Amino acid sequence: PVDRLPEIQEARLKLPVLAEEQVIMEAVKENMCTVLCGETGSGKTTQVPQFLYEAGYASGDGIIGITEPRRVAAVSMSQRVAKEMNLSTRVVSYQIRYEGNVTSDTKIKFMTDGVLLKEIQKDFLLQKYNVIIIDEAHERSVYTDILIGLLSRIVPLRNKKGRPMKLLVMSATLRIEDFTENRKLFPVPPPVIKVDARQFPVTVHFNKRTPMEDYAGEAFRKTCKIHRMLPPGGILVFLTGQAEVHSVCRRLRKAFPFRPNHMEAETEEKDSAEEMRQFKKAKQKKTVSLPRIDLDNYSAMPVDEGDEDRQAGIGDEEEGSDLDLELGDDPGDSEEKTDPSLPLYVLPLYSLLAPEQQAKVFRPPPAGTRLCVVATNVAETSLTIPGIKYVVDCGRVKKRFYDRITGVSSFKVTWTSQASANQRAGRAGRTEPGHCYRLYSSAVFGDFEEFSEAEITRRPVDDLVLQMKDLNIEKVVNFPFPTPPSMEALVAAEQLLVSLGALEEPPRSGRLKEMERARLSCPITPLGRAMASFPVAPRFAKMLALGKQQDCLPYVITVVAAMTVREIFEELDRPAGSEEENSKVAKRRARLAQMRRLWAGQGASLQLGDLMVMLGAVGACEYAGCTPKFCEENGLRYKAMLEIRRLRGQLTTAVNAICPEAGLFLDSKMTPPTESQVRCLRQIVLAGLGDHLARRVQAEELLDPKWRNGYKTPLLDDPVFIHPSSALFKTLPEFVVYQEVTETTKMYMRGVSAVECDWIP
Ligand code: ADP
Ligand code: MG
Repeated sequence: PVDRLPEIQEARLKLPVLAEEQVIMEAVKENMCTVLCGETGSGKTTQVPQFLYEAGYASGDGIIGITEPRRVAAVSMSQRVAKEMNLSTRVVSYQIRYEGNVTSDTKIKFMTDGVLLKEIQKDFLLQKYNVIIIDEAHERSVYTDILIGLLSRIVPLRNKKGRPMKLLVMSATLRIEDFTENRKLFPVPPPVIKVDARQFPVTVHFNKRTPMEDYAGEAFRKTCKIHRMLPPGGILVFLTGQAEVHSVCRRLRKAFPFRPNHMEAETEEKDSAEEMRQFKKAKQKKTVSLPRIDLDNYSAMPVDEGDEDRQAGIGDEEEGSDLDLELGDDPGDSEEKTDPSLPLYVLPLYSLLAPEQQAKVFRPPPAGTRLCVVATNVAETSLTIPGIKYVVDCGRVKKRFYDRITGVSSFKVTWTSQASANQRAGRAGRTEPGHCYRLYSSAVFGDFEEFSEAEITRRPVDDLVLQMKDLNIEKVVNFPFPTPPSMEALVAAEQLLVSLGALEEPPRSGRLKEMERARLSCPITPLGRAMASFPVAPRFAKMLALGKQQDCLPYVITVVAAMTVREIFEELDRPAGSEEENSKVAKRRARLAQMRRLWAGQGASLQLGDLMVMLGAVGACEYAGCTPKFCEENGLRYKAMLEIRRLRGQLTTAVNAICPEAGLFLDSKMTPPTESQVRCLRQIVLAGLGDHLARRVQAEELLDPKWRNGYKTPLLDDPVFIHPSSALFKTLPEFVVYQEVTETTKMYMRGVSAVECDWIP
């Protein structure tokens, strides 16, 4: 029996999913697999594990497992459920790649989908679990897709063995045909339960015109306008990335400052502040009927990047003076620049944000303020923020794109899908009727694709193919993918794995057709098995497998951990405007550049390039005890450094398991590698990144000026470059290997180190 606090119980009863508890539990009891659809916020993630718990699915020797595509969700949902059930986090726990609080008492375990995939490798039948819930299946993350494929086989197997197990797939959208209509996946279609969410109507307002560049500026202006003119209710702004989120937060805070102390004194005067607001509104003598105010004909001018402040309000005379918050050229207006009478409680939300900061969005805003959350996609379905009445949607999303042939990846901001845009709009109607302001026209919306593509069709699959081969799924083509990856991607993956030695070479004899088939069903090698046991990409796993030589393992582990954890160096804010701030930023830049030179070492170690910088940074950070202070002072992301530490621990354990004679332990006082170790490391790196080789453009090839300082790679027609922030930017060695090429203003190699031409096979 669960002993919930009265206020929790009361809040639960309002969730639509609660009305369906019996129906859901019946379906789960009667079927091996069940699909549950319900709008975001209907209570799926927080309530369904509790239903199962109360129905006894966690009594005895099995537990309830629930997977999330995002780490943020796994952590925050486990905490929420523990709190709702009045149970300790020893019982309701989470496990994400680098950390967790699972104990032997754990009954409900939230985890990322990648974690469960690893567990399947250790125990294909997942004997620990009585039930697995795959959450957020609509996101179509790669691991979620694979898990559904695997579980479609595991569940019947468990049944046959007399230890039945249940699968519950939960989705925030009704678009589930890829699961339910896929006979290869589920020969008998699973029952689908729909939860009717009590969704309030959301009025959607389209912009008349669509700003092509400065949608962040447009989002800022729209938010200002909502805050000034519309009745109370939280605002949720959707942007695409962390930098944008911060910049808009900064501008909003400046426009509507909120000072906690000052506010407390004013709490009693809340009503008068409200009166004041009404008065202001009246003063604007606009005859609009609230709340269906039309904000759309505002800022219709196409704006260029950086011009946003000058452009605001043009052609909008009546309101111009009130809206040009950062406009300095109207002297009569200067006191209006910031408006402390309308405090706005502005919070950022994105996945790399520290958990304490993330948790703030669930708490009510301070009295007398309006909540405004500026978020990336994480707020679309994973987290439901209470009290949102207005949504401002830029209509875009930042996605990583891979070129199938060349492997070049780039982050691009693209239009989102209609389904996503509707999800975003829905966030406004959770507690009362709401409004969604789309910063694009209805014609543009009409051109959006209907749904977002499954991730598996958009990225390389070498890691998945290796994991599957290790699960003895030799013919990956035949795997019951909800949406299969392209043939090209599968062939490329097998080729890479063969070249790394993880799969056996396909036989060269036989008829063409057989050869084709053999190419897609190469068996795994012993090296491949070792590689599959490391929780990193196959290229890095190869480096680990080679690392024993010349006592290089601790260095290889560190370099691989650093390459796996993204963005270990803090991003510097762009100059913020005032001269003082700019010079501060410049000083800090100079200091961080100096640190990187220091970490790059001297002489032989320079040749290891960016990987030496990573090694030096981690070494220095660990030596200093990996404190937030050290990271802050040296431009390292503290969260990333903690992840690197955990991953180093994990990799050390994994290596010890495979080669106990190495007797590794995690050393916080790593001495720098010797000259011969650096040479050895460079060769190991080459072995993993052999297909990422680039050669400096020779003098005689320098016909086109755009090739200056460029590098040639086997697969690309265009040159690639060493980034100015790279340790090898000035050296320009003849041969280099790189971790990846990303396209920003140019094609830049990231994670570059120099190799010698006589090492190249
Ligand atoms: P779904 O999974 O269907 O999208 P959830 O179970 O995540 O829905 O959310 C149900 C309700 O619980 C929402 O109203 C949400 O705001 C609330 N909620 C979720 N997490 C927290 C939290 N950490 N603190 C307070 N409320 C929360
Ligand atoms: Mg959910």
